[in-house]
Amino acid sequence: MTDGERTSSAFDSQALHQKYAAEKKKRLRGDGEGQYIDASGEFEAFSQDPFIKVPLQRDSVSKDIDVAVIGGGFGGLITAIKLRKAGINSFEIIDQAGDFGGTWYYNRYPGIRCDIESLIYLPYLEELGIKPKEHYAHGAEIYAHCQMLARHFDLYRQALLETKVTRISWDETLSRWIINTNRNDEIRARFITVSQGPLSKVKLPGIPGINKFIGKMFHSSRWDFDYTGGDSTGGLVNLGTKKVGIIGTGATAVQIIPIAADYAKHLYVFQRTPTAVDVRDNKPIDPEWFAELPNGWQKKRMDNFLAILSKVYQENDQVHDQWTDYWKRVVALGMDLKSKGSDEGPLAIMQRIDYAKMEELRTRIDETVNDRETAASLKPWYNYLCKRPLFSDNYLQAFNKPNVTLVDTDGVGVSEITEKGVVANGKEFDIDCLIFATGFDVAAAAYKVGGYDVIGRNGLSIDDKWSNNFQSVHGTQLNGFPNFHIVGGFYQGTTAFNFMHALDIQAEHAVDLIAKCVTGNIASMEVTQAAEEKWIAMMEEHHNAALNQYFEDCTPGFLNNEGDTESKPSFLGGNFGGGTIEYERIIRNWRQECIGTDTTTTQVNERR
Ligand code: NDP
Repeated sequence: MTDGERTSSAFDSQALHQKYAAEKKKRLRGDGEGQYIDASGEFEAFSQDPFIKVPLQRDSVSKDIDVAVIGGGFGGLITAIKLRKAGINSFEIIDQAGDFGGTWYYNRYPGIRCDIESLIYLPYLEELGIKPKEHYAHGAEIYAHCQMLARHFDLYRQALLETKVTRISWDETLSRWIINTNRNDEIRARFITVSQGPLSKVKLPGIPGINKFIGKMFHSSRWDFDYTGGDSTGGLVNLGTKKVGIIGTGATAVQIIPIAADYAKHLYVFQRTPTAVDVRDNKPIDPEWFAELPNGWQKKRMDNFLAILSKVYQENDQVHDQWTDYWKRVVALGMDLKSKGSDEGPLAIMQRIDYAKMEELRTRIDETVNDRETAASLKPWYNYLCKRPLFSDNYLQAFNKPNVTLVDTDGVGVSEITEKGVVANGKEFDIDCLIFATGFDVAAAAYKVGGYDVIGRNGLSIDDKWSNNFQSVHGTQLNGFPNFHIVGGFYQGTTAFNFMHALDIQAEHAVDLIAKCVTGNIASMEVTQAAEEKWIAMMEEHHNAALNQYFEDCTPGFLNNEGDTESKPSFLGGNFGGGTIEYERIIRNWRQECIGTDTTTTQVNERR
């Protein structure tokens, strides 16, 4: 059977269409993204860093540098490494966390792994000759990789950790950005890169009574191992006497639940929308196979994965996992149909594969989960990409344990939190420990994630600039904000399921432009308003109507503004629609051509 033929005809697409629409309707609520609350003010404890045991003591810093790199996660790390390689050594990395790692610093919950293959996710493996242990790396290994990169490229001596940026403002006279911090630092930098990461702003559900609970509660990204015992690999022995509740069944919860089920006296899983979970099939990486990989293997493997997920036909599928399986099937069916003279559009083709894929996942649930009612409740009724597709070989199995109860709320969610526990479906569940696996404010633009003001030329803040419309060039540079670069900008920029690929492209862009200014004696470079208008026109030209329609039809979630696709672009709807490969080609050409030659694109001031 060819990939294209694996669409299976054993389902009624009309009935599925209606079922998906009905399930979406159940989940829609009037308050959209307003249903969530920030982990600040009264809820500050949910975002406090539990991993800093002895806070750092240091004097305030006042210095002039070339580049301030805001964020010490992979975005900031890759940027700093590229600066180092470009010979720009006057930089400082600022992060509020106690170490490098970003999301991998904070997320240490039990069971944590990356769902993208380690060989294409972990940067600089080939260059440093490092073999990851398994195809899907454990979080602790990824966090250790971040620290190793920082040591190898000698970044610790240029890092201001445990330091929160409070304000960034452009000083026209100095042609520098002034960065203020909570430690009274004043850093004056010619250039600034911002990589705050989409998974850094903790999101809590605004469930009535959330502040009343007297038991233990924490967010999954601030796991309290002092309370549970153990570490990110397990050993949660203190939960043996505890009734544990977990709210959420997303990418994080799917990894926590099997481990919590191994230790908790009883585990209640509060589900609002079931999740689509495919096979993981993780394996150790064979050292002999790894040793034989040809020169340039890592970039080629990343490109191969990106090409397949961009629907570009590839002879070989190097990663060969469930991600590539879906996209290869879409491409194969498209080719099959075309060869038969069909004029079926891209959305219809994708939908056919999608129905088949989701039917397979629902069948897997029936085959794995013993209790029929629980199996039925765990079935997702929406398209495959509406939520990040998940992979696990022990999530569904956890529901066969006698100490695990699925509390399915049929799209409604938890209705109340009381002193003693959680109310769902009109019933109160007594809980000792409540875990919020409720995700992050992914849609918050880069500047909001940091929770500080960015003030550009003439006192204009980014907040003001974007109050009506999002305007940028490539999602990375802004008129009114000279020498300012976002690395990891997805609005009007790009994202990729392997986010490392998108980060690498934007970090290279920023560092290349900064290097051009440094070597070309350019004090400031600023994209023009005309360039922003041109980019918006290009965004419209590349608008991917099929993909946008796909997400509009989705069950509510952070990818489609909780179902509100009218008031602002959704996470993916706001991306450059031409795809990451085309985006990279455009920005590479742009930076070769723009600087100093095209005054409609950039304004350049020579260094005084
Ligand atoms: P998500 O936003 O994906 O999931 C949040 C969960 O909380 C959902 O199940 C949601 O239900 C549920 N929820 C929210 N409010 C309520 C409520 N009132 N009552 C009941 N349930 C509620 O967060 P995650 O932390 O799981 O994942 C965030 C992102 O992190 C992922 O999309 C992924 O990009 C990334 N991630 C990546 C990993 C990787 O391997 N690369 C691993 C883990 C996370 P509903 O679905 O109904 O909204």
